[in-house]
Amino acid sequence: MRPSKVYCTDMHTDMQDSLLDKFGRLVDAAGICNIDMDRRFVAIKAHFGELGNLAFLRPNYSKVLADKISGLGGIPFLTDCSTLYVGKRKNAVEHLNTASINGFNVISAGCQVIIGDGLKGTNDIEVPVNGDYVRTAKIGREIHDADVLISLNHFKCHEMTGFGGAVKNIGMGCASKRGKMELHSSGKPNVDEDTCRGCRKCIEVCAHSAISMEKSKSVIDHGKCTGCGRCIGACPFDAVMAGMDEAMDIICCKIVEYAKAVLSGKPNFHVSVIADVSPFCDCHGENDLPIIPNVGMLASFDPVALDKACADLAQKQPMIAGSRLYINANGVKPDDIFKCTHPNTRWQATFEHAEKMKLGSSAYRLIEVG
Ligand code: SF4
Ligand code: SF4
Repeated sequence: MRPSKVYCTDMHTDMQDSLLDKFGRLVDAAGICNIDMDRRFVAIKAHFGELGNLAFLRPNYSKVLADKISGLGGIPFLTDCSTLYVGKRKNAVEHLNTASINGFNVISAGCQVIIGDGLKGTNDIEVPVNGDYVRTAKIGREIHDADVLISLNHFKCHEMTGFGGAVKNIGMGCASKRGKMELHSSGKPNVDEDTCRGCRKCIEVCAHSAISMEKSKSVIDHGKCTGCGRCIGACPFDAVMAGMDEAMDIICCKIVEYAKAVLSGKPNFHVSVIADVSPFCDCHGENDLPIIPNVGMLASFDPVALDKACADLAQKQPMIAGSRLYINANGVKPDDIFKCTHPNTRWQATFEHAEKMKLGSSAYRLIEVG
């Protein structure tokens, strides 16, 4: 298979050259201007960060994209869909409030923010995908209605998919609430009775009342559990374990199929920033110490090649002492930083299924941009 082009630049700057200037040169070199945006609605799929999280990408990056799109005659808007779990982004009002608190407004981000799946996360459209796991993907209607999609991705670790990049941002992030239920529905966690200390933190974050206490230990009712994974990150003692490896694989595959549905028939372009690589996704209301140093910024028309390039670059980095990765690895650099950070994940499933679904190519050619 012919490798896809992935453009990259590092995070070095000097006094005359900010990271945002480099970001602009990167997307120019990667060909963003070749997309016909004239009088077309251009969705910039971002992540506004859960309240309390500080690892999400600042609105300054969005503004570079929004200004370019406007300069090309397009009508940009920033977007994301609401969450399944308890938090400050579970409906459009709270989501917009959180986006605003985290700095996303017309002045800072260069365009309006529109929540992709409506007030309560129910405004979606079923897009046929005919994948191995998903027949029709439930996509936020505002995102589906956009003429062009640009994903702006914070590359970091993820408790269910190993890492989160473009495919995850598109596939999971553009799903409506019932879409997210479908994506999560097979991956249901269990509590390790010996490890559980009965602190009830998992109960507090479960939006579906799926967890109860029995003899001072948490028990998950799989009949109620939607597999959102929130309790996994909330447990301070790592007592909540995600389901079997196969379930994690299936979540990765379903995300690929959703991403395929989102991008189908729509011009698209993708940019990722490998910085503040936190162990958990930006949906957490906190961000632990990054596991590796900041790496760089990458852009491509191929979201799969982009994710593979980011994953490969991240794997080559040294660990940050004291990080979750460092602790899990007992201070010895592991072969696989994602697996070591989240032992129950198997991130390779994303690439295997993405190639099968012809979402993109894992083969890439890196082109450095100064
Ligand atoms: S039990 Fe955990 S995974 Fe299941 S719905 Fe509740 S928080 Fe989500
Ligand atoms: S958060 Fe963890 S330790 Fe606390 S009750 Fe839940 S499973 Fe047990």
